[in-house]
Amino acid sequence: MNKYDVIIIGAGPAGLTSAIYAGRRVLKTLVLTMNLGGQMNLTEHIENYPGVDLTGGADLSLKMMEQAKKFGAEVMLNQEVLAIEKKEDDFLVKTTSGEYESQTVILAFGKAPRKLEVEGADKYLGKGLSYCATCDGPLFKNKIIAVVGGGNSALGGALYLSELAEKVYLIHRSETFRGDEILVNKIKNKSNIELVLNSEVSALEGEEVLEKIKIKDSVSGSDPSSHEASKDRTIDIDGVFIEIGYEVKADFVKSLVKVDELSQIITDSEGKTSVEGIFAAGDLIQSPYKQIAISVGQGATAALSAYDYIQKKQGKTTVRVDWGQK
Ligand SMILES: Cc1cc2nc3c(=O)[nH]c(=O)nc-3n(C[C@H](O)[C@H](O)[C@H](O)COP(=O)(O)OP(=O)(O)OC[C@H]3O[C@@H](n4cnc5c(N)ncnc54)[C@H](O)[C@@H]3O)c2cc1C
Repeated sequence: MNKYDVIIIGAGPAGLTSAIYAGRRVLKTLVLTMNLGGQMNLTEHIENYPGVDLTGGADLSLKMMEQAKKFGAEVMLNQEVLAIEKKEDDFLVKTTSGEYESQTVILAFGKAPRKLEVEGADKYLGKGLSYCATCDGPLFKNKIIAVVGGGNSALGGALYLSELAEKVYLIHRSETFRGDEILVNKIKNKSNIELVLNSEVSALEGEEVLEKIKIKDSVSGSDPSSHEASKDRTIDIDGVFIEIGYEVKADFVKSLVKVDELSQIITDSEGKTSVEGIFAAGDLIQSPYKQIAISVGQGATAALSAYDYIQKKQGKTTVRVDWGQK
């Protein structure tokens, strides 16, 4: 079996930055990932990545991958990691299509969209129900759609879709949004976005494809009776976009590394997990802030930590001696 120095799980900004840093340290590096770019790839306009005025997530993802490859990293797409096993001093990483051995592992598998827990949600997936506004939005040009959620993803999604669709219903459980004020103001100024507050989806209906959604008063709404729009109702729609947040799907590593109650992986400031030789970076670690620039920094940290770990095992110099620390 081909043995690597470092296997990185995930090719979002954290994983790809780890790959760039590991490659530059001449570590034999493999990135195993389900897709390229992760959440970054879902973002049409990135305006807060330092040094880059405005870019698309797909473009930035591609550039990061090319940079990683330039320094020798291998990137294998369409690989879902199912398990990691400790094997004496090394790790065995099992994917849907193979097994790979490595001295170290960097967990950078980020977050995935939280699913709508309503009957029919699976039935209509891809038939009117989507978890990705930027991916599927263009299919709903001049149609009537709904967006469910109240954070930045929902607000950004509704704004983006309002440019394509005839009308957008923005359905949110509460009276106030959790997203940035700047987005909330933009939403309020959009004539084709109708706010449906203090409300939640109770059912999805349609023959072959999604045709209607049922809305009921939300339990968590502050004062449902004061809102005309929050009365129980059925809305005819062509599509619904679910933007109710993201979660860390860490089931396959929970028995190995320590996680918190939100399944976020616990690390120290050097990206080390509870298991020697396993590091973690990006949105999946226990940190309140989840952004591309933050993931990039954590990805670099995890790769340098992995490098130090390997160097130490071999009795060689670590990165830190650069500035005089042991
Ligand atoms: C709609 C939206 C807009 C955003 N806009 C911005 C913005 O403008 N600016 C900003 O800074 N941040 C933004 N963010 C947040 C930013 O995208 C994330 O913080 C960042 O992408 C996290 O990077 P990551 O590498 O940790 O994880 P992710 O980007 O989540 O990448 C995870 C990677 O792991 C892979 N993976 C997952 N599970 C497995 C598995 N079992 N096996 C193999 N591979 C796996 C995935 O395929 C993916 O490649 C936005 C997020 C969203 C959802």
